Amino acid sequence: MSSTRQFSFEFFPTKTDAGHEKLMQTAAHLATYNPNYFSCTYGAGGSTRDRTIDTVKHLNDVIKVSTAPHLSCVGDTKADLRQLLTMYKNSGINRLVALRGDLPSGMGMASGELRYANELVEFVRKETDDHFTIAVAAYPEMHPQARNFEEDLRNFATKVKAGANIAITQYFFNADCYFYFVERVRKLGIEIPIVPGIMPITNYTRLARFSDACGAEMPRWVRKQLEAYGDDTKSIKAFGEQVISEMCERLLQGGAPGLHFYTLNQAEPSLAIWENLKLPR
Ligand code: FAD
Repeated sequence: MSSTRQFSFEFFPTKTDAGHEKLMQTAAHLATYNPNYFSCTYGAGGSTRDRTIDTVKHLNDVIKVSTAPHLSCVGDTKADLRQLLTMYKNSGINRLVALRGDLPSGMGMASGELRYANELVEFVRKETDDHFTIAVAAYPEMHPQARNFEEDLRNFATKVKAGANIAITQYFFNADCYFYFVERVRKLGIEIPIVPGIMPITNYTRLARFSDACGAEMPRWVRKQLEAYGDDTKSIKAFGEQVISEMCERLLQGGAPGLHFYTLNQAEPSLAIWENLKLPR
């Protein structure tokens, strides 16, 4: 890809062989669009450890797109993390998405030795120097557990200064919160690219529930319109595609350094946006 913007697709590891096979077909299709990288999520506490590793290796080695494993620190010991870092490094992986993670309910709070993502970034740098390009998470609408916006901004800056190269945002439906966040963190001396995380809209009920949980505000006019479509998935997709494509256009025109698509393991919703934006292939 000629532009210096970064485009990436995120997947989650599947539970079955059939799911894995289907994911690899999806990834192979998305690979033809020449993204800068893929990423694959990790269940905090190690719940998807083996499946994340298998998926990352397959995407990287067989589909041949540089792939970033997500790595979270809550629930994992330093020894667990060291082992994963060594294995990824020896397998030719040179990107990571470093996160605190959210432990599944019932597993208690922060039982690992590292409590916050800034400590994980510091640990990765100490263990592996500059081997990995490290991405961290950013929350333009504030992390849901943060005490206030200012404190969350300062915590974000600390995490970046620990050695992150790029940030990927939580998804949002309002470009202004992204621009405001970027403006504020620049004033704290943060220069790294902050890439908007993009969630295509393909469903209403699930997305509304998930958005409430992760603190992504769905504007009333979007919510009401999606609600009114009921089971009409075709209309939901068409409206969602228009809303998200227009937001992405504004983001890129306003200087966003790329887009990171939360694909939910589906190619078409992200590619519809990609085509609407006439992004290079
Ligand atoms: P942190 O940066 O550690 O922040 C968490 C909270 O603690 C914030 O409220 C912050 O203000 C506060 N805080 C941060 N540092 C400090 C400090 N030093 N002292 C006191 N307070 C502090 N989850 C997964 O389990 N697996 C995944 O694969 C995954 N992938 C993700 C990918 C992206 C792009 C994003 C945006 C999120 C992802 N998540 C994933 C979700 C993420 O793990 C949760 O949002 C989690 O609650 C916070 O992770 P973090 O790395 O942002 O945490």
